[in-house]
Amino acid sequence: MKLLGLFLLLIGLGLGYYTLNMDTTVKVDYHGDNILGLPEEVNNLGLMSDKQNYLIVSCFLVIGGIILLAIGDKDDSIGNKSKKYIHEFDDWESNKETTSAPTYCSNCGQAYYSKGKFCENCGKEL
Ligand SMILES: [Zn+2]
Repeated sequence: MKLLGLFLLLIGLGLGYYTLNMDTTVKVDYHGDNILGLPEEVNNLGLMSDKQNYLIVSCFLVIGGIILLAIGDKDDSIGNKSKKYIHEFDDWESNKETTSAPTYCSNCGQAYYSKGKFCENCGKEL
């Protein structure tokens, strides 16, 4: 849902950008000298209405994309929150083993990653 919203938003923005840069003029061929000084390029009504249609479509795509993004945010907020906690727990789990070196009990050899003062296995002071 969220991806679709982003997709629509990007397509809408892309189409809008393309449309705004669209040239609606066409060159006029006067078959010889342009004695009267008529314009070399004139606006093409068909291209202009195309431009309008594209603009409207791109507006709808952008609006639809934003709405989908907003709805997606609301729907996923709880899921994302729990995912975030799981992710944080995973980080903590992996950090525990990679960053801090374990302490070994001098009595029984049990490895400890926490900063406890006594061995949980045999009760001897670490
Ligand atoms: Zn011990």
